[in-house]
Amino acid sequence: MTARSRWWQIAYCTALDPIKARVAMVAITFGYAGLVVPILAVALPHPGIHFRWWAFWVIVAVACVEGAVMALDLRRLIGHDFGQTIPAWKVLAQVLAAVGAAGIADYAGGSRGIFGVLIVLPVLIASVVGNWPFIGVVWLASMTMLGVSSAAGGIHLGALPLVLAVYGSSSLGASAMYCNIRDAHLRSSDRFDRMAQTTEVILRTEGVDEAMGSFLPLVGGLTEVERVTAYRSGPTGMVLLATWPDDAKPTVGTPDRPPEGAPDMALLGGDTPYTIADKATVLRAWTGDGQALAVVAERARPAWWNEVSYESSVRQLAIELGLLVHHNQFLVQLDALARTDALTGLANRRELMGRLEREQARALRQGAPLSVAMIDLDLFKEYNDAFGHLEGDAVLANIGAALAERARDTDVVARYGGEEFCVVLPDTDLAGATALTTELACRVRHVPANRVVTCSAGVAQWTAGQSADDVLRIADDALYRAKAAGRDQVVMAGCPRPTTRVPRLGP
Ligand code: GH3
Ligand code: MG
Ligand code: MG
Repeated sequence: MTARSRWWQIAYCTALDPIKARVAMVAITFGYAGLVVPILAVALPHPGIHFRWWAFWVIVAVACVEGAVMALDLRRLIGHDFGQTIPAWKVLAQVLAAVGAAGIADYAGGSRGIFGVLIVLPVLIASVVGNWPFIGVVWLASMTMLGVSSAAGGIHLGALPLVLAVYGSSSLGASAMYCNIRDAHLRSSDRFDRMAQTTEVILRTEGVDEAMGSFLPLVGGLTEVERVTAYRSGPTGMVLLATWPDDAKPTVGTPDRPPEGAPDMALLGGDTPYTIADKATVLRAWTGDGQALAVVAERARPAWWNEVSYESSVRQLAIELGLLVHHNQFLVQLDALARTDALTGLANRRELMGRLEREQARALRQGAPLSVAMIDLDLFKEYNDAFGHLEGDAVLANIGAALAERARDTDVVARYGGEEFCVVLPDTDLAGATALTTELACRVRHVPANRVVTCSAGVAQWTAGQSADDVLRIADDALYRAKAAGRDQVVMAGCPRPTTRVPRLGP
């Protein structure tokens, strides 16, 4: 860190620290009180110059105006009312007071010039609207003008060091501290606002790519950021995901390549969450699917006086981007868990219903057949009683795997309940579904177990107008008939000769 930015950081922290902020308030009090000193210094009798009482009283009145302004300022500071704008009346009062004080002091001091006005005015303007460099420049200008004025106009030379030391330093300190506290407060409230907004984006994320639309304007709200671009790695390299403002074209890097100086996106990761190059900051993260995500914030005008706040804002946003990605990964995992049966890894009942409804809609659109099979293990309670629940669980898991292995990719194999499975068979009519279900039942019989486990199944073909529950109930009725008819068989719903015995493979 350079000496320059350390100096700035010290000033920044001073203003953020509540105790030091109180010290700053005392400095401000002295700063305003210091205004009285040059006024009195000039109003006091000078050798060879007749003392002017009327000038003295005018100066006291002006000091009172300044005192009132000071009291209002302090009240605002104590009440943490930093407000983004200073009321016009106050600016006017301060400027008038300054001009009046300087003019009168100048006149009373024997000068007829207007230099005195020029001394005080810029410092007061700086105290109202100034920032650090502006105050510095104004301070130099004021000192120069003071020197010129005293040389040209007759301010008593004995008062000059006092004027310089007390008035100049105290109003400079007061202006600087006031601006510093106000800016720090505005920055920190900006920061809290942005944190609240990013938290909302994070919590409402429905995918990292979609969240970028809300995330980019937040990065765009950073000090001195002009343009933001989000990239994600695709199969053939980085692809542009989104920009802010909406139609802005990245001026660093190209649409399919992040800026020069940023590390190769394929190699991202490691310890550093972001890189600040001269013109741009690259925030990066890995998404859950192993892809890289890069957010490039282009700086409009890098400037030393906002370096620290820019850097810390970027660091904060890097953390928030990481949170966004992690939260999204968490949601993706949670979603997968909510759809999966823990024992068998098959779709659970909730996922089954959703998939079945989607397949119904597709079958309706395409006029394709759609069937379902309900499969229930026979006398499984006895198996559990004989070999224990853990052994039963292992058999259930193996049966689930055997069913999933035989089914097509487009089929949905789900664990419907305890020892009951359901298979959704798109593009399959009743005869085809029965044949496949018979084959599945055959596989169940041959799953390794302490004794042969058979199953019964009911198969139904969906017809337009039936709900998901309707077709499952029809298949379940057929299953019930298979049980009633002696188990170990497949029954087709709505057929006069419905029953298929489950064949035995091998010896
Ligand atoms: P049926 O041929 O009439 O279907 O007889 P069944 O014993 O299979 O049917 P029933 O509905 O009476 O009992 C189902 C049994 O399935 C009860 C329970 O022991 C067993 N079961 C259900 N879920 C699980 C599970 O997650 N693990 C194990 N090990 N057994 C389960
Ligand atoms: Mg059973
Ligand atoms: Mg059952």
